[in-house]
Amino acid sequence: MAIERTYPEIREAVSRLCSQFSGEYWRDLDKHSAYPTEFIGALTEAGYLSILIPQEYGGSGLPLGAACAVLEEIQRSGGNGGACHAQMYTMGTLLRHGSEQQKQQYLPAIADGSLRLQAFGVTEPTSGTDTSRIRTRAVRDGDDYIVNGQKVWISRTQHSDLMILLVRTTPREECVKHTDGMSVLLVDLRDAVGNGLTIKPIDTLMNHATTQLFFDNLRVPVANRIGEEGKGFRCILDGMNAERILIAAECIGDARWFTEKSAAYASDREVFGRAIGMNQGIQFPIARAHIQTEAAALMVQQASDLYDAGKPCGAEANMSKLLASEASWAAADQCIQTHGGFGFAVEYDIERKFRETRLYQVAPISTNLILSFVATQELGMPKSF
Ligand SMILES: Cc1cc2nc3c(=O)[nH]c(=O)nc-3n(C[C@H](O)[C@H](O)[C@H](O)COP(=O)(O)OP(=O)(O)OC[C@H]3O[C@@H](n4cnc5c(N)ncnc54)[C@H](O)[C@@H]3O)c2cc1C
Repeated sequence: MAIERTYPEIREAVSRLCSQFSGEYWRDLDKHSAYPTEFIGALTEAGYLSILIPQEYGGSGLPLGAACAVLEEIQRSGGNGGACHAQMYTMGTLLRHGSEQQKQQYLPAIADGSLRLQAFGVTEPTSGTDTSRIRTRAVRDGDDYIVNGQKVWISRTQHSDLMILLVRTTPREECVKHTDGMSVLLVDLRDAVGNGLTIKPIDTLMNHATTQLFFDNLRVPVANRIGEEGKGFRCILDGMNAERILIAAECIGDARWFTEKSAAYASDREVFGRAIGMNQGIQFPIARAHIQTEAAALMVQQASDLYDAGKPCGAEANMSKLLASEASWAAADQCIQTHGGFGFAVEYDIERKFRETRLYQVAPISTNLILSFVATQELGMPKSF
């Protein structure tokens, strides 16, 4: 028995929608590194991508917990929410720090699907996880900022109209705190590409539509800055915590998909005259992965409840991402093992989901960095950096 699931109606409706997009649909996209346009269209039309947008701007105004339920069910159905999850987690930045004018300008169009906010630009090739060392620079020129620099691993930029971009507006050396001096800009990708922004796709282990960005004197209106100049790191933290919790929910969905597959196959497949699932060598790791998943799901729930209550949730967001990504990986690994050779056959979808779920121990934040955060911030041990 899994722990009690929140938002049962949403889960059931999402699961019904996902059933129209079979394993064959996802396999074909994977084969051609294609974007799930029809799937995203169906999700948008059904209102799931505007679930966090307040009702006065045309969304459903539901809490993060509801968005977690949507993403978990997408992954649990065998699909992948990676093509759209940014629309949910970037909302934290826009909703909590955007001006009323920005919200009026963008949110209704995002809610009705005519505008896509799917890209979140933070990572750079030289800074890695040390966000305070980003070098992409925005310099004020009248009513515009002029942006120069480079980003890497910025996903969905070719399928999004808008991007939330973190830049340096004051050099790190001139700031009292290293996390000061950064600002958040809302970039209209439709105007930017070819006018100072070049996008180059990166081929990856799985189908993820991720890219490299090159900024060469890109002009972004000052009016597009979200929040105060120099305080951008604080603004994106709300997006980052939401991102970790939502991705943890995706991992729970993956883990459940793998474990359901493992248990069904182990009960059915007969070798040496009996179901392989009768052997505890097969049975126990599947049970262990299930236990890990259910424990992680409780942490995801705790993190999203805190986020929704507007309370500090950095530790819980990080811990839920670590636990859930390890649970999904344990479930994935055992699923391959349980299926023997068939685990490697493309038509079973297991190898695809196995590749997809591996990402979450690295992105959006790697396991080591979470351990370091918990060790130093929660347990008060000395910092190594
Ligand atoms: C498919 C994909 C999609 C992505 N999408 C986005 C996106 O849309 N937007 C965005 O901004 N970013 C995105 N990212 C970037 C992602 O967030 C980073 O890759 C991730 O945070 C790790 O950073 P890095 O790759 O620079 O690794 P690094 O920071 O170079 O670290 C490399 C390894 O060293 C470890 N490490 C580093 N420092 C320490 C230390 N002090 N102690 C112990 N271990 C350490 C890390 O844990 C990691 O395992 C994406 C990445 C991928 C692969």
